[in-house]
Amino acid sequence: MNKRVRFAPSPTGLFHVGSARIALANYLFTKKEDSFVLRIEDTDQERSEEKYEKNIIDSLKWLGLDYDEGPQKGGDYGPYRQSERSDTYKRYIKKLLVEDHAYRCFCSQKKLEKERERQRKKGEAPTYSGVCRDLGEDEIKEKLEKGKSFVIRMKVKEGEVVKFKDLIRGEVSFETEIMGDYVIAKDEKSPLYNLACAIDDYEMNISHVIRGEDHISNTPKQILIQKALKFDPITYAHLPLILAPDKSKLSKRFGAVSVSEYKKEGFLPEALVNFLALLGWSPGDDREFFTLTELKKEFTMDRCKKAGAVFNKEKLEYINTLHLKEADPERLTKLCIPYLVEEGYLKPADDRKKKTSLGNEAPKANYETDDGREFSFSVLNILIKDHQDRITTLSEITEVTDYFFKPVNVDFKLLQWKDMSPEEVADSIDKAKKVLSNIENWTQDEVSEKLLEKANEYDDRGKFLWPLRAALTGKEASAGPFEVAYILGKKESSSRLKEAKKVL
Ligand code: GLU
Repeated sequence: MNKRVRFAPSPTGLFHVGSARIALANYLFTKKEDSFVLRIEDTDQERSEEKYEKNIIDSLKWLGLDYDEGPQKGGDYGPYRQSERSDTYKRYIKKLLVEDHAYRCFCSQKKLEKERERQRKKGEAPTYSGVCRDLGEDEIKEKLEKGKSFVIRMKVKEGEVVKFKDLIRGEVSFETEIMGDYVIAKDEKSPLYNLACAIDDYEMNISHVIRGEDHISNTPKQILIQKALKFDPITYAHLPLILAPDKSKLSKRFGAVSVSEYKKEGFLPEALVNFLALLGWSPGDDREFFTLTELKKEFTMDRCKKAGAVFNKEKLEYINTLHLKEADPERLTKLCIPYLVEEGYLKPADDRKKKTSLGNEAPKANYETDDGREFSFSVLNILIKDHQDRITTLSEITEVTDYFFKPVNVDFKLLQWKDMSPEEVADSIDKAKKVLSNIENWTQDEVSEKLLEKANEYDDRGKFLWPLRAALTGKEASAGPFEVAYILGKKESSSRLKEAKKVL
């Protein structure tokens, strides 16, 4: 049978990396013939917001986790937003009441709170005592006529054990004793999470539920509902949670927790996916670099780890560097430009209103600095290509390329190669200036060729190339002199060489 899985986030906050990992496991678990469903669980109307649903959908798209059915996308089992499925829930709530699997509870909050307090004092688990469990039909009618408010509770038989098979943890069992008669709906049309989830998993023909282990105690509650409604059983897999370095829950206290924050910081989606996959799953050997396609081919549930995994940011950074090295330079250029714009180094040359935003691709256009130096897209492409293996995140591009955009400072110490005298350094710089000013056709090849030709006249090429590179960049370490000279252009290179000579 083809598998059908669902990822069922609640749109109550920015899409969390922990949720992304659950979505990824669902995505990887399904093979070609299977289906991956996105279901938006927005029954909590007060906390759910449209902007968060958008953030979930945008983040999944950015990560490349395509789903087959979902809101906007459609499919045979829609609607895929719980807020649009109330007719279905109403039908099942009625059935549960009529068939005596559930009942209305009229107990006030105050009364319930007192009851729980009493139980807590006695050291018992706070469960509902069942006062309203066996109200007669007349009593119920009377209360309803009086307009008394109620909730709906599941009638749970005591002394039973609910068992289910978990693909990660093996057989899991829960005693019904500790569940008590749990609330399944706020009224006849408003299901709570467990009920809506059990109904939708059935109605959407879900075969496997893959979710975080924070939901493991909900599973027996959902199974009891499935049994009462004679739904087919489902196979479960509860993935361990991602933990902060101090082994606590990964929360805002730790730092960035949403996918959008990582995107803004300049992590590539393929790196985040690679990192999240390795957090809870092992390929069986020590490989660390995976593309989504490779993961999809290799992922199996039996290699998922049982223990919670610590979110190690250094590891994510390391994996990001691996993917940055592999990435297409043109794509990286589009992704890096917004950081340079944000830093104030560049602005679009032809259309000042052209928008760039961190993590998103900038338009393929010409850019310029505040002092009017132009950087064409193809020049920026070369610049990024020369630096893509020197950065950990896209945002670091501003640090490693700042000398292209800001005036540079040099001193003799920096310009000096080995034991060159100031006169020798000045001579090298003069020669470099001459070579550059004689180049008519300013192409990368031409610039490299002419400079190399001159460098080869020296017994030690460093005597020519080091002062040149240092004068152009003002740095001990940078990209090579040929690339830097080409990118800066004839005019700026000459003016930097001229400036450098002043300190000699
Ligand atoms: N809406 C639940 C959540 O966001 C989903 C739980 C489930 O997958 O059943 O945690």
